[in-house]
Amino acid sequence: MKKINLNKLLERAREVRERAYAPYSRYHVGAALLSTSGKMYTGCNVENASYGLTVCAERNAIFKAISEGEREFVALAVVTANGGSPCGACRQVIFEFMNADAPVALADASLENIQSTTVGALLPEGFTPRKLREGQRRKNRKTTRS
Ligand SMILES: [Zn+2]
Repeated sequence: MKKINLNKLLERAREVRERAYAPYSRYHVGAALLSTSGKMYTGCNVENASYGLTVCAERNAIFKAISEGEREFVALAVVTANGGSPCGACRQVIFEFMNADAPVALADASLENIQSTTVGALLPEGFTPRKLREGQRRKNRKTTRS
């Protein structure tokens, strides 16, 4: 695996942020992901007049990548006007496809204020596929006993 270039990811996140569809919040967000295959995927937020249908930039990027056959990512960059961090829903989706120690760069649109963090710092104790399987096994044991 090549060295992770977070600056390049931040540039791509800033570029895609320009395409955000955010007429309601006016909070434009761009996200860029690096997959284990070495490809980059980007996403912007897409809002809707029915607010609950809005999709964040982070999930948009991840869903695009998953639909292209990717399953795991090694780095994420998010750019907003003020360097805001991912919402709770996105943190859980990020946690599904990235290791806890994977780097996450959060920046404002100037890319001068960059916060470096990790997936695990954004979502300690995130829910994992393993936890789901453990819960299912427990339920099965109870069922067979009774
Ligand atoms: Zn979100």
